[in-house]
Amino acid sequence: MLEFDKDRNEICYDYSRCQQCGICEAVCPKQAISLELRKDGTNLIKVDNDKCIRCKRCVNCCPANKRENYEGYFDNFTGKEYYLGYNTDNTVRHECSSGGVCKTIVIESLRNGLADGVYTLRRTDVFPYAEGEFYTKDNIPQYDDIPNSVYHSIMACRNINKIQHCKRLIVVGTSCQLRAMNAALKGKADEIIRICIFCKQQKTLDSTRFLAKIVGTKIPENLKFSTRYRGNGWPGIVRVNESELPWNRAAQIPFGRRLWTVPGCDLCGDSFGINAGADLSLMDPWKIRTPNDMGETLVTVHTETGKKLLKSIDTIGLQEKSFEDVKAALSLKDVWRKQQTEPYFRGEQCSTTAQKAGEAEMRQRRTIRKIVDTLPRMPILFYRVLCKFYPDSRNRILK
Ligand SMILES: Cc1cc2nc3c(=O)[nH]c(=O)nc-3n(C[C@H](O)[C@H](O)[C@H](O)COP(=O)(O)OP(=O)(O)OC[C@H]3O[C@@H](n4cnc5c(N)ncnc54)[C@H](O)[C@@H]3O)c2cc1C
Repeated sequence: MLEFDKDRNEICYDYSRCQQCGICEAVCPKQAISLELRKDGTNLIKVDNDKCIRCKRCVNCCPANKRENYEGYFDNFTGKEYYLGYNTDNTVRHECSSGGVCKTIVIESLRNGLADGVYTLRRTDVFPYAEGEFYTKDNIPQYDDIPNSVYHSIMACRNINKIQHCKRLIVVGTSCQLRAMNAALKGKADEIIRICIFCKQQKTLDSTRFLAKIVGTKIPENLKFSTRYRGNGWPGIVRVNESELPWNRAAQIPFGRRLWTVPGCDLCGDSFGINAGADLSLMDPWKIRTPNDMGETLVTVHTETGKKLLKSIDTIGLQEKSFEDVKAALSLKDVWRKQQTEPYFRGEQCSTTAQKAGEAEMRQRRTIRKIVDTLPRMPILFYRVLCKFYPDSRNRILK
């Protein structure tokens, strides 16, 4: 998180609150901001206060320094429209993260002139193996050019300066990335459609290192490795180098979600991107789908614009669902808990219960991390038993 310190007349950076979006580097007019890669694959932001002209663009765009208002956040969920969506070509559907709705919107919107620009990721050959890219009708990507869900942090907003003025621009990102882009893209398009990749947390590379250990491989110091998350049916796989693990087995290690979280993710309770103005949110239909080898994306429609775009792409198959049908997959309780503990992680005053939940979580994270780091590779069953000893106490405290 970047803040302006009036007394020191300097921009100050706090890694423990950084959401790793990369917008600060992109908007700095004097290239006063640089990145320093840490061992866990996240970046430290370095501000050169000699070059800095105190324009505060970085501070104004930083998504972590704005306290969100969550009043009424859950009021409209029963009235929203929900769909299970998928690309109608089974080969594409099989290889995407969930059902391929996101990539299909990106590609088909450009092919059919529904948008004249899209900002999302492209695959790269070097760590973090993905970067932001601006696509137009002149460089329409293939499905394989766009990565599936990348769970380690990627600084997705770093390339927003590539965005040229558009009549209709589609931006894809997690909630923090959309918030960051909102501030930076003013005047860049007549209309912006926002697609939110539902996200409870981005992980550091230590999460992938742990998965590598489980599958008996390693991520080398120089970070030259290959990785692929999801795809290959649903819920898919995680592959590190040549070794892979079914994604549902990786997901059976619940502390994976807690130990290696990008620090600033604790400061975001807007997983659906509603406060960031999302038109659609896309997520996995965990718990609600009948098992089959083909994925589906659970689409939450927030606006008429989002719905119109979704329905105008005929290579997306859609099954309309009611709130009751999808309730179990929406993770509303998890999102609510994140909202409750956000003040604690911001170091602000909060309820005693939220304080207790935040403290218990930090204690548990430290202990489990120590155990997991110290021990050699263990069978997955061991980690599942460990989780039984350390169940997420936030769930018990914040009912
Ligand atoms: C960090 C992260 C955490 C997530 N957590 C959850 C969760 O807890 N529960 C849940 O149900 N779903 C979660 N998802 C969403 C889920 O993994 C799928 O992305 C979603 O279901 C869309 O699937 P799809 O097949 O339509 O996407 P695809 O058609 O495969 O397209 C993926 C799109 O996401 C973009 N993308 C990939 N990684 C990132 C990233 N790190 N930042 C920004 N854009 C990215 C790609 O550029 C592409 O446009 C998470 C995704 C991410 C990236």
